[in-house]
Amino acid sequence: MVDTTDSVKGIITVLGGGTMGRGIVHVALASGFQVRLSDISEEAVANAVAGVHKTLGRAVERGKLSEDECQSCHSNLQTSVDAAEAASGADLVIEAIPESIDLKCALYARIAPVLGAQTILATNTSALPVTQLAEASGVAERFVGMHFFNPPFALKLLELIRTEHSSEDTLSRARVFAAQLGRQLVEVRDSPGFATSRLGITLANEAMRMVEQEVASASDIDTALRFGYGHPMGPLELTDLVGLDVRLAITRHLYAELGTDTFQPPRILEDLVSQGRLGRKSGHGFYHWVDGKKVETAS
Ligand code: NAD
Repeated sequence: MVDTTDSVKGIITVLGGGTMGRGIVHVALASGFQVRLSDISEEAVANAVAGVHKTLGRAVERGKLSEDECQSCHSNLQTSVDAAEAASGADLVIEAIPESIDLKCALYARIAPVLGAQTILATNTSALPVTQLAEASGVAERFVGMHFFNPPFALKLLELIRTEHSSEDTLSRARVFAAQLGRQLVEVRDSPGFATSRLGITLANEAMRMVEQEVASASDIDTALRFGYGHPMGPLELTDLVGLDVRLAITRHLYAELGTDTFQPPRILEDLVSQGRLGRKSGHGFYHWVDGKKVETAS
């Protein structure tokens, strides 16, 4: 790896350059950090870098970054296919690889020997138990969940998830990183669904049961939440965007972990998923979608 040049705020390493990793890289670069990005192959790294350059370019078009700042972002980004090399000497390592305990634990075992004594290791997991990941990491007192939202450059929320092992020093330094990254922070004790999924799924499941019971159409339920409560988007349209299969997996997980009826998967959700109606990505969920745009109510 090429040596880092003048470090402004410190070094953030992002492991995994997929949907979330590249968005986190964008945010860290635009916030003035030296950033190291690692993925499993040169091709995956090149795709991720191209993705980051594209979104940084859009930020320039929208006046959010100057040309000079964008150039600094480019030169502050380094890459490696070797996760340990990328993590060595970093102040903060954010893991954003696929949602698998086995994959994540195998990666932590590879990087643990090179982490500095002060390095914070964070996982971007959406739903895995952070405590279990912390215990497998070898650095439990310096391990936290940092749950970013998609896309991170547009959605500023960061859920900071602490476990019983997280030290006070780790938490206070994680709060500083969150502020430097321009995040709106909420702090959550490790528990299934954290704050966001638990509340979001509660609302969506009840909205689906109301469609099942023909209380109102999907469109009218969404409109009620938008205009009556100021939500930017109704829970059923949001379910279409996230993917009905993804939401079904989350509610099954929460039902298994928390056991409350709220999370029992709604019948309509099971039915639509088994019919292949997965939302925007399949063109049909609670709404019809063409070229990624909602065209009409489908239920
Ligand atoms: P993704 O599949 O888009 O990207 C994962 C990336 O990790 C891929 O580029 C893959 O090649 C790479 N990877 C796999 N193994 C690796 C390894 N050992 N070392 C380095 N890179 C490796 O996944 P994603 O949607 O970005 O999700 C990543 C994490 O973020 C998951 O834990 C997910 O639950 C969480 N998350 C996702 C979203 C979302 O909306 N997609 C939102 C919040 C949190």
